[in-house]
Amino acid sequence: MERKNIDWGSLGFGYVQTDYRYVSNYKDGAWDAGCLTDQATVTMSECACVLQYAQTCFEGMKAYTTQDGRIVCFRPDLNAKRMADSCRRLKMPVFPEDRFVEAVVETVRANAAWVPPFGSGASLYIRPFMFGSDAIIGVKPATEFQFRVFATPVGPYFKGGIKPLTVRISDFDRAAPRGTGHVKAGLNYAMSLYAIVDAHEQGYDENVYLDSATRTYIEETGGANIVFVKGNTLVTPKSSTILPSITRRSLVQVAKDYLGMEVEEREIPLTEIGEFTECGLCGTAAVISPVGKIVDHGKETVYAGFGPTIQKLYDTLTGIQMGRIPAPEGWIQVIE
Ligand SMILES: *Cc1c(COP(=O)(O)O)cnc(C)c1O
Repeated sequence: MERKNIDWGSLGFGYVQTDYRYVSNYKDGAWDAGCLTDQATVTMSECACVLQYAQTCFEGMKAYTTQDGRIVCFRPDLNAKRMADSCRRLKMPVFPEDRFVEAVVETVRANAAWVPPFGSGASLYIRPFMFGSDAIIGVKPATEFQFRVFATPVGPYFKGGIKPLTVRISDFDRAAPRGTGHVKAGLNYAMSLYAIVDAHEQGYDENVYLDSATRTYIEETGGANIVFVKGNTLVTPKSSTILPSITRRSLVQVAKDYLGMEVEEREIPLTEIGEFTECGLCGTAAVISPVGKIVDHGKETVYAGFGPTIQKLYDTLTGIQMGRIPAPEGWIQVIE
């Protein structure tokens, strides 16, 4: 397979149209057989449920080339399961989990020429998503849906070195108790756009959201979970309104089983953040982005950035992903 002639190292995080995507349509109560297509646009009714009432959810994951030249992706079964959970909460039909994984594998295989080489730091970002596609004007779920998977090459996250993030405690809320914060719904992002643009205008990289019921506990940022380090313990918020990050769940296991750390998944009061030495944001995009500073209305809490523990967590998980360190059973899906 001849790779595309791209300067992988200078790619950013933006959409690049690749050759193939997977599409399956749901109608009359059933998913069709699904197929790969080169059609990168979607045509639908102006009254489609997704356009009027935002009935849509998505997933995000990466494929990459390992040291020994295989193309793999990381724990796609967990993305399949999480998307099924999102669909159930949003009254969308579940795309069967085994078919989800198969669709991801097919999409990556068809776009193998777009998978960046080992060592470039770049990867192929995979975006599975689903939306209600038929015309709905009275408020109710759609009856027809489309499931798609596209892939787009993205550059190294830490381009030009690692700059620890400066984040602020947000005055906006992200998720209501018993709402949809725990599912990967587009609507959670639509309402976060105002807050993120405002944060950037004020000079912050991200918003850290508090629990909206009491505004006293740390939850997560707009698109990443949060972890803290205290001594030999990794501490991460436990809440029914945060999105269950696959990266965070993997880091928890790495901390316990590879690094011999203690792990606490519990409520983290805002008043405790000064007791931690390191802080990181975790998600597919960066694995862990070190936080250098949390600013709460002028009050600054400073962390070690890429401190020793965040560094070890990062090195171990990326080592597992790249095939340098043996992976737990089932973590690496080999594509070819
Ligand atoms: C997708 C997402 C994450 C990160 O999840 P990963 O599975 O680790 O990529 C964290 N928080 C929110 C709100 C998200 O949407």
